[in-house]
Amino acid sequence: MTYITRFAPSPTGPLHLGHAYSALLAFDRAQARDGTFLLRIEDIDQSRARQSWETQIHGDLHWLGLTWAEPVLRQSDNMEKYAQALDQLWAEGLLYRCDCTRRDIAAATRAPQEGAPLHGPDGLVYPGTCRIRHPRKGPRPQAHTLRLDMERALATIQDPLIYNETGMAAGQVNVSRSDPLRSIGDIVLARRDMGTSYHLSVAVDDSDQNISEVVRGADLAEATGIHVILQKLLNLQTPTYHHHRLIRDAAGKRLAKRDDARAITAYQAEGYSAADIRQMVGLSPAILRP
Ligand code: GLU
Repeated sequence: MTYITRFAPSPTGPLHLGHAYSALLAFDRAQARDGTFLLRIEDIDQSRARQSWETQIHGDLHWLGLTWAEPVLRQSDNMEKYAQALDQLWAEGLLYRCDCTRRDIAAATRAPQEGAPLHGPDGLVYPGTCRIRHPRKGPRPQAHTLRLDMERALATIQDPLIYNETGMAAGQVNVSRSDPLRSIGDIVLARRDMGTSYHLSVAVDDSDQNISEVVRGADLAEATGIHVILQKLLNLQTPTYHHHRLIRDAAGKRLAKRDDARAITAYQAEGYSAADIRQMVGLSPAILRP
């Protein structure tokens, strides 16, 4: 099978050492397998995405010595595909409209009978307030938040929920069928202001771009479980996943976008080279494909 991987940053801030590691590792894995490395711009959050960050991402990646196959997929250009996926899930009765605000959710999860509020990968696990409030018939509601009815969704999946891991704890990983109900819950698949969500767009795009291996940080391993569920619901292939260690600062904290001091541009300005960055993140020197 042809090896295809991708680096998928959001143009909402500077790339830092953690991004550099992820991008270089994905690129190296593609080089070593005579495969293809793609860049995907994850800009569904148009309120935060900036063209200037996108331009800088291109510049930083080139400076690191990376090249990628064109065209670059920009998620904001792929909204039609996400709408089709949502239509399919809506037609199957797996989505429902939700009008709860963050405050409503926080208040509902604080109710004494609910016990300690549970946090999932997207924040507080939704208490299900709107699950039976709105009819699931007629045309799919537009400009509304749509949630996945996780219990019903899991009940429709006959196939085993598994994926192959090539990174940390390599081997076959079983995605639990009971944990998603408890610790993930009815996740948002269409945000009112975006018409899609991170999870839905990633599942659709990884399939659309024939990604054979997703290289991403270990912090996204929980999200991977959600993506495998969505792949099953939408009849999409499940790629292999390579979750990698996280690059941390001197205090052991995971680097975030706001850690500007670790921005690639800051290292460039201080005279470091791409080879220095490779060394800093613990990667061997670049392999050049003839
Ligand atoms: N766009 C996401 C980020 O910048 C991650 C992409 C993914 O691997 O799903 O963190």
